[in-house]
Amino acid sequence: MRRMTTRLRSFGLLLAVFALVALVACQAAPAGPQVVSLIVTGGTVVTVDAARHVFSPGAVAVNGRDIVAVDRADVIDKRFKGAQTIDASGQVVLPGLVNTHGHAPMVLYRGLADDLALMEWLQNYVFPAEAGTVNPEFVRIGTRLAALEMIQSGTTTHTDMYYFEEEVAKATREAGMRGVLGETILNFPSPDSKTPAEGLARTEAFIRAFRGDQLVVPAVAPHAMYTLDEQWLRASRALADKYAIPVILHVGETQDEVSTSLGKYKLRPVEYLESIGFWGPRTIAAHGVWLSDAEIAILKRRNVALSHNPESNMKLASGTAPVVKCLNAGMIVALGTDGAASNNDLDMFEAARQAAFLHKLQTMDPRALPATVVLEMATIRGAQALGMDREIGSLEAGKRADIITVSMKGARQTPMYNAVSHLVYVSKGDDVQNTIVNGRVLMRDRKVTSLDEARVLADARAMAERVKQAVKK
Ligand SMILES: [Zn+2]
Repeated sequence: MRRMTTRLRSFGLLLAVFALVALVACQAAPAGPQVVSLIVTGGTVVTVDAARHVFSPGAVAVNGRDIVAVDRADVIDKRFKGAQTIDASGQVVLPGLVNTHGHAPMVLYRGLADDLALMEWLQNYVFPAEAGTVNPEFVRIGTRLAALEMIQSGTTTHTDMYYFEEEVAKATREAGMRGVLGETILNFPSPDSKTPAEGLARTEAFIRAFRGDQLVVPAVAPHAMYTLDEQWLRASRALADKYAIPVILHVGETQDEVSTSLGKYKLRPVEYLESIGFWGPRTIAAHGVWLSDAEIAILKRRNVALSHNPESNMKLASGTAPVVKCLNAGMIVALGTDGAASNNDLDMFEAARQAAFLHKLQTMDPRALPATVVLEMATIRGAQALGMDREIGSLEAGKRADIITVSMKGARQTPMYNAVSHLVYVSKGDDVQNTIVNGRVLMRDRKVTSLDEARVLADARAMAERVKQAVKK
């Protein structure tokens, strides 16, 4: 027995010696570059990180779904070897754009009726078209078209409230995009729910189906304070709290909404929602065109983010949101396009430029909303608004690899003194060359790989015939 133990001991010692030799040998070998799944190199990398680093030429190393390093191109080249490489020379590399408000399937109503007063537009066109056409197939085909447009124009995360939201979620996931998505809840019958109770039940089923997904974040989406009674607004908040998920709603979009609220409750919309205990964390209020100083103070106190949609607000002549005031108050302000029926595209570069111009004009101050702030609104502040800034919104090691590259080689972009200035004041969605989400290349050299482009367009054109028939009736 004793002898046996001694033998075992000497065997153990031998093993330890072998392990030590192996370790020394390993360390002595020259350290080769680490192999990663993808390297984007050679462009001007605008990180939008806390120090607002810009590397030129810079590179981003990606492994699987995550960014592993962002640095000068020569540093990355020494440290890493990519299974795939994207040459971004002559391009700007930046975080994927975050659209914080939209209704994706409404791309199928793009240009159906323009230049009308809001109520005429809604009652004679949007509502009849929706009543006659919205079903799961319509939502699927519309979301695929929207996803194609968003991938082509550099949006990697979109925020959505519509109907049959599970179809929006499936199409978003298939396209490889990220989405914060919520089923619209209304007091009156909608295309998929006869009552608000049914809308909430659908929402809870949706949350259970998609929570924990890599790309889809479920949200609760009560439409607005003027389209829902107090009990349903409270129930929406309770549901969001139960699952600790975001809330999306429209607030203070028109003067009509404010006068309705004042008439009914003697309170402005944000004040009314405060009085019923609606405001809470992870809330994205869309529009906020008509906000008083007191309402801005409430939103700030409750840490509610504003999704500013300049093009929709201008096209529907809703008014100009007090964006500079909200920023000065310390609110998180992000950008959105709204649905394509009131924009009429999903190009976040255009939303960024329009936002800058609109607020310079409104304040009569060209220093208002500088390019650096607008780019943040389209990226990191969008991520903050959605409560996702630990995962997305900037190019940093450890974050998800949501990356786009934008060409700066054309006449329009020449010369380039300042990349951030060009991104906001010169670039258009069509300048995006590569779109990467969660480490997957969704568009390479303008060829979308995650969707069958010809099929998506053909399906959308066929669906448009049904929309025309519905509006004719
Ligand atoms: Zn909207």
